Amino acid sequence: MTARIIDGNVLSARVRGEIADRAATLSARGVQPCLAVILVGADPASAVYVRNKVAACEKAGLRSLRFDYPQDAAPAEVMARLAELNADPAVHGILVQLPLPPQFDETAVLEAIDLGKDVDGFHAENVGRLSQNREAFIPCTPHGVMKMLESAAVPVQGAEAVIIGRSNIVGKPMAMLLTNAGATVTVCHSKTRDLAFHTRRADILVAAIGKPRFVTGDMIKPGATVIDVGINRLQDGPDAGKLCGDVDFESARAVAGAITPVPGGVGPMTITMLLENTVISAERAARSRELA
Ligand code: NDP
Repeated sequence: MTARIIDGNVLSARVRGEIADRAATLSARGVQPCLAVILVGADPASAVYVRNKVAACEKAGLRSLRFDYPQDAAPAEVMARLAELNADPAVHGILVQLPLPPQFDETAVLEAIDLGKDVDGFHAENVGRLSQNREAFIPCTPHGVMKMLESAAVPVQGAEAVIIGRSNIVGKPMAMLLTNAGATVTVCHSKTRDLAFHTRRADILVAAIGKPRFVTGDMIKPGATVIDVGINRLQDGPDAGKLCGDVDFESARAVAGAITPVPGGVGPMTITMLLENTVISAERAARSRELA
């Protein structure tokens, strides 16, 4: 058996087309959706992510504002910028690219973002709302995964879902979304005993570990849906310099029923959901402007 590929580029192109239509409608009503992005320091991966996010905004007809700060920036300076952006009615989404340099208190920065502009969904109140299955900005990567499962018609209700990774940005919100959707969820991490025991039970297996090709075919239940969130750059061997996921694609593909590739899987969907959250925020702003 060879798994069918869940193509994030194809799905992204379709969803981004819909987002561009919504952005055009909003612009015609005098509200162009606008995302403000703050980047502190010169981490090369972060710089690439920010560049891609800004480019995706432009392509979909969203305005973007970019604020770059040096590695040794004073937190007070960034906090002052956030206050300005919070108060600016023309800004609908605010994103602070993580990780931040050590002089920053990351939690304090995320909580300084206006709840209604928290398009990354990392503010504690948005996280709490998500855990209660109430309306919230949903973190983009796990939200993109849910869209991929939906587009591929993967049954979630009643499914055994196993997530490897318990980070605040991927693993935990992924667990909440799958729980809210009716899956039976197991969250694994570095302290899990006998990881393969859990992964082999999974109808849906989500890998968000940060270790190249960590999940191999023998850890996967035949026919399972495998979602590879990992983005790793290989350091050595014949593929040095290439991107790969947390799943060993070749051995996994021989066992799984469906699988997401890296690149071209979850990555493009993450940016797509960021655009969607910004448009949702702008739609809210347009409604309240018209009601005023
Ligand atoms: P973190 O480093 O924050 O979390 C990694 C998780 O994996 C932790 O919970 C850790 O456990 C767990 N883990 C590490 N080693 C093992 C192991 N040997 N066995 C079981 N679990 C293990 O990473 P992120 O969640 O931020 O990101 C995960 C991956 O996803 C990375 O490759 C990242 O680049 C990628 N990513 C991709 C995105 C996309 O758009 N596609 C967006 C965000 C991230 P513990 O908690 O015990 O330490």
